Amino acid sequence: MNFPKLPALLASVVLFVPGLRAATERPNILFIFTDDLAYQAISSYGESRKLLDTPNLDRIAREGMRFNRALVPNSICGPSRATVLTGKYSHLNGFPNNSNSRFDGSQPTFPKTLRANGYQTAIVGKWHLMSDPTGFDHWDILPGQGAYYQPDFIRNGEKVTEDGYVTDIITDHSIGWLEKRDKSRPFLLMAQHKAPHREWAPALRHLNHDNDRKYPEPPTLFDDYAGRGQAVREQDMTLEKTFTPRDAKLNAQPRLTPQQRTEWDAYYEPRNKSFHEANLQGNDLVRWRYNRYLHDYLGTVKSVDESVGRLLDYLDKEGIADKTIIVFSSDQGFFLGEHGWFDKRWIFEESLRTPLLVKWPGVTKPGSVNDDLVSTLDFAQTFYEAAGVAPHEGVQGRSLVPVLSGNTPDDWRKSFYYHYYEYPMPHRVRPHYGVVTARHKLVHFYAPDVDYWELYDLQTDPHELRSVYDDPAQAAVRDELHREVARLRTELKVPAQDPPGFSGGRRK
Ligand code: CA
Repeated sequence: MNFPKLPALLASVVLFVPGLRAATERPNILFIFTDDLAYQAISSYGESRKLLDTPNLDRIAREGMRFNRALVPNSICGPSRATVLTGKYSHLNGFPNNSNSRFDGSQPTFPKTLRANGYQTAIVGKWHLMSDPTGFDHWDILPGQGAYYQPDFIRNGEKVTEDGYVTDIITDHSIGWLEKRDKSRPFLLMAQHKAPHREWAPALRHLNHDNDRKYPEPPTLFDDYAGRGQAVREQDMTLEKTFTPRDAKLNAQPRLTPQQRTEWDAYYEPRNKSFHEANLQGNDLVRWRYNRYLHDYLGTVKSVDESVGRLLDYLDKEGIADKTIIVFSSDQGFFLGEHGWFDKRWIFEESLRTPLLVKWPGVTKPGSVNDDLVSTLDFAQTFYEAAGVAPHEGVQGRSLVPVLSGNTPDDWRKSFYYHYYEYPMPHRVRPHYGVVTARHKLVHFYAPDVDYWELYDLQTDPHELRSVYDDPAQAAVRDELHREVARLRTELKVPAQDPPGFSGGRRK
């Protein structure tokens, strides 16, 4: 593929980016990506149950734009990462699930294209796409899911083991690469955390971060799943039934050094002893697990917030903060006890919506908040426009650049297509697809052994507890959304039937 050489490229920057004063100022891109980070855990998302203070994340929101409805096309780790890189849905980028998918690194991606157009590119941390990264001058990734303590890395193909805590090390390595960069050229750095992915293991300095706080419960902690169909009733992702002793930290995490194990035991052992002695049952047991889960999960998020603070401070110290776009997001959202769940996967809000904070000096208005339907699908196209680079072929997202400057186009999407495939392992969430609007969701659960639709009205039922699909009063909305989901499936080239293996099975 041919891309514009430098003079044409510089000219296009002027055309594309009204916020930039001079053509030579192609922005740096710092893309900070987390794994399974719930917006409920970020204090600048004001609707949270005030679970945690995240001053450094709040700094991005305060100096930039916070997105309230950033949606993912397929709420699971690898597929979401493949969508970010390609700007395409799973059925076109070939990575529909975590069980047997392998990323085809020969396909076009935005890092590859930016690199071909003069950007220096690096990825540090979580990758999880099974094949080696392509399109990076430097890659330094965790193998598979990676470890929280003393993690292995694969650095440009060579395995190394590091001492310490994974979030800190990813931050060290990210700053280390920035220190050595060519200052005459713009950079793309993808700093991608494992945190706070299961089993959400905090840095040891954060073990007592909440002083044994009892966390406010979501109103749906004891959801009985009445009002919804078989798929919701038959999932396997509850605190009540699915949560393991290792999730609960009744067993220690692997790879702790003897010194770390001593610190670990000093925190967990007396609390675990009290737990065993109490012999909790039923709702009391669920409540105990909920509080243990939130302690560990939020403690793990604290390290992410600290990492963001270090990276922001580095940009300030280098004097490049005003030339750098900061995009902070997660590969999906996460349930923090809502519906009695942990994990993700569903079209429901907590997993569909991902945190998105963007600071772009001169473009984003400080402290702005956006409610448009945007997506991780849009990142590639956004980076292309920001860098003044022609997009690769077949990108399905749309550039957020006008949205970021506060000028959402009149024809911005009013509906969004969602499609989840992986089944049955690990959480028995049935494949489903649907359409999401500002107010409604129409969902089709279609496999295996099921074939039914649900309709949710977020205005009258914000916790998504009751399908109104069969309510005669909803007939007009239902019919309109049926037409819309059919239109989107055609526009997005979704195959009528899932190709073989899309729901998982043995790795290819
Ligand atoms: Ca994830």
